[in-house]
Amino acid sequence: MAENDNREITNSEQDSYEKVCFMCHRTESKAGKMIDLPGNITICPDCMQKAFDTMNRSDMSIKDMMDLQNLPNISMINLADLQNGMPKQQKIKKKKEENKEPQKVFDIKSIPVPSKIKASLDEYVIGQSYAKKVVSVAVYNHYKRVYTNTMDEIEIEKSNMLMIGPTGCGKTYLVKTLARLLDVPLAIADATSLTEAGYIGDDIESVISKLLAAADNDVEKAERGIVFIDEIDKIAKKKNTNQRDVSGESVQQGMLKLLEGAEVEVPVGATSKNAMVPMTTVNTRNILFICGGAFPGLEDIIKERLNKQASIGFQGDLKDKYDADNDILSKVTLEDIRNFGMIPEFIGRLPIVFTLQSLNKDMLVKILKEPKNAILKQYQKLLELDEVKLDFEEGALEAIAEKAMERKTGARALRAIIEEFMLDIMYEIPKDDNIGRVLITRSYIENTGGPVITMRGLLSLEG
Ligand code: ADP
Repeated sequence: MAENDNREITNSEQDSYEKVCFMCHRTESKAGKMIDLPGNITICPDCMQKAFDTMNRSDMSIKDMMDLQNLPNISMINLADLQNGMPKQQKIKKKKEENKEPQKVFDIKSIPVPSKIKASLDEYVIGQSYAKKVVSVAVYNHYKRVYTNTMDEIEIEKSNMLMIGPTGCGKTYLVKTLARLLDVPLAIADATSLTEAGYIGDDIESVISKLLAAADNDVEKAERGIVFIDEIDKIAKKKNTNQRDVSGESVQQGMLKLLEGAEVEVPVGATSKNAMVPMTTVNTRNILFICGGAFPGLEDIIKERLNKQASIGFQGDLKDKYDADNDILSKVTLEDIRNFGMIPEFIGRLPIVFTLQSLNKDMLVKILKEPKNAILKQYQKLLELDEVKLDFEEGALEAIAEKAMERKTGARALRAIIEEFMLDIMYEIPKDDNIGRVLITRSYIENTGGPVITMRGLLSLEG
């Protein structure tokens, strides 16, 4: 099986991958010309030398070793057996030589302008106009910076971002859509699962491993990717605690060098380092980091600050005017985020901060029907395969949106609600060949009536 896999790799692909030492996991470009051993094993000269030295130092002669192999129940380790247990993709794609004429993977002129990026995002993400604008400009600048590596005097700052918005408002979806449109690898991690190296959980550098996997082990591609770290508010510094803070402040500290740009040693094909996994180095300088979180309680911090500001000076009488402000989150300042518990060094490395709005009923209705891959379109397509037309009353959509609002999980609730009542439809309709159209009504969603079903014969009469 393994041999077949090897055979499938063409010669040109072979050339762009380099060998990795079986013992120390360094690549050929670092450790020097590899020595090929039987069973597809490669060993660097240093490790080979060490092996010889060990044998020479040992009191055991080669003959003793040979004898040992003949003893019952004792056998020498067969390296080829170990090899079979290793990940299939043993080799690491070579980095291209930096000093050579750069290969134009992405012509600077072909980076879409911000308005184009936003227009493409509009097809998928409903509302969040401001967020889409900020992201489009930031991404445009970021990739311009990446692809024109010529600005020596004026170093353009990296466009890492911090997204603040309630759950289910489209933060992850925005980043996913963006990465897909730009065709760059994307790794999504949850800040709560990250710990400082040495603690149980994924260590911080594991996100770079994920990114490398998303880039098919192509280091160069990974180095231009996007890392999205969700639930970043969960690693806020805890107030008044004397305990060692494993998941909070220290994780923020640990992330600093990644955000800024560092050479990170990561395992290939796994998220944890162990002796059996080859390692490679990824530079995070051009990786775009986007952090997102709901920051519960941040609104109170903002209100407190604004009310305090209002109470001094002339506007003393307007003291509580911000209490009823729905758009309070958009007035966030770096100071508020620091008061929430993010350390200044961390905030400093995320220069672009913006907020997303919570979704209202109108937006939820639009999310149901407008995006290119809208949930309704998906169901319509499914029933179309059974030659059944599926329609929704406007009132039905509003009822779904109202139900979703009650659950307070943003657009995430929509799919769950739709699935609940579409189950019966999807179960019953294909049974009867005579059905030509199903109209989902408001009363069906509210459990006070049923859908309107039209038979094929009647449909053709109507038509
Ligand atoms: P969060 O803000 O918590 O990261 P997600 O991005 O995961 O929320 O949203 C959950 C799902 O809801 C997405 O997969 C997407 O289908 C839908 N969704 C959320 N917001 C929007 C939006 N603004 N436009 C279109 N779909 C959305």
